[in-house]
Amino acid sequence: MKPAQPLPVADAIDIANVDSLLTDEEREIRGAVRSFCSQHVDPHVAEWFETGDLPAARELARGFGELGLLGMHLEGYGCAGMSATSYGLACLELESSDSGIRSFVSVQGSLAMYAIHRWGSEEQRTQWLPQMASGKAIGCFGLTEPDRGSDPGGMLTSARRDGGDWVIDGRKMWITNGSIADVAVIWAQTDEGIRGFVVPTSTQGFSATRIPHKLSLRASITSELVLDGVRVPDAAMLPGARGLSGPLACLNEARFGIVFGALGAARSSLETAVRYSREREQFGRPIGAFQLTQAKLASMALEYQKGLLLAMHLGRLKDAGALHHTQVSLGKLNNVRESLEICRTARTILGANGISLEYPVIRHMNNLESVLTYEGTSEMHTLVVGQHLTGIASFR
Ligand code: FAD
Repeated sequence: MKPAQPLPVADAIDIANVDSLLTDEEREIRGAVRSFCSQHVDPHVAEWFETGDLPAARELARGFGELGLLGMHLEGYGCAGMSATSYGLACLELESSDSGIRSFVSVQGSLAMYAIHRWGSEEQRTQWLPQMASGKAIGCFGLTEPDRGSDPGGMLTSARRDGGDWVIDGRKMWITNGSIADVAVIWAQTDEGIRGFVVPTSTQGFSATRIPHKLSLRASITSELVLDGVRVPDAAMLPGARGLSGPLACLNEARFGIVFGALGAARSSLETAVRYSREREQFGRPIGAFQLTQAKLASMALEYQKGLLLAMHLGRLKDAGALHHTQVSLGKLNNVRESLEICRTARTILGANGISLEYPVIRHMNNLESVLTYEGTSEMHTLVVGQHLTGIASFR
């Protein structure tokens, strides 16, 4: 019998050859992000995670800016104007290094910059976007509050008019990049409903404190913001955003990045598990020779490939201007859930080594617990899909 020909794919875990769906430009962008992360993130990220810090945040921001990654899918104002699919693939590479690093780029580009790009005045765009695209200025996005998470419509932060100014009071919780940000997009109740404000973090009455004791997304700065009589001019209000649809449109952008991004954590864990299973021997054989291990690996690869196909499809829909937010919910729900499962299974294959930061698996696994919760919890996205199927909203 002739030996079977090996599957002709560039990447062993890309069994379905999803890679063939990419354009040359997309492959180039993916390669550039991977190369940057291998050099500037991967050698340090386990230590950042262990110490619970992102000491290189400013340098990384500049580096990401030079690569054109910050607000990369936005047009003009120094942004790279790349396709949504390219942005997704960049998120995947970033998150294969660490979800905290992908979060840094997502919050900057898809939340803070997108809010200003989509809803801002021309003055706000020209003032903030070029410096944010280059990584000179860091942004954050303040929607969640201590008592309002999944239900942001009931937010307690308020902005009231005072002459030609607005005065903002309230607290925002779990804000990524909060204490290193130069500018915060803050959502508040007004007598005209929910409005957004572009607030320089140096404004009097604004303070940000890092949230300690996180066991997830540790290579990312997460903060509580306090706005105590923060006075901003009328020109700080985002003129285009009225009501909850303003922040929700931004979240939809960031969630799209997660549809791809989470798969990066899954890919890294799967690759680690495959390698480990070939090298680690028990009972005189590599553990990869046992059928139980092969069943785990096959199932991980299958879910990874299904997730990647879904992500690519949603990317193409987005580039065609035909992506609905329910489809983004479907993608986030599936890809984060399955990526987390892949990481957990990879952890079992590594045995005791699976709980060590010497390997990336437990870091990815713990990180994905945050990703499962932020940008809409998996329960919220389940309800979005449920509402689509039944026509009945069951959020309250
Ligand atoms: P809750 O809303 O209190 O939910 C608790 C549980 O109840 C969840 O399981 C939820 O699904 C469930 N639940 C709630 N309502 C229902 C319902 N109707 N039906 C069924 N189940 C329900 N926010 C920002 O604004 N900006 C940021 O930059 C940001 N970064 C973050 C970074 C990290 C690391 C984390 C962990 C969070 C971040 N968040 C950020 C906040 C995040 O978006 C919220 O944590 C999330 O929206 C959930 O809110 P909550 O934690 O208050 O949970």
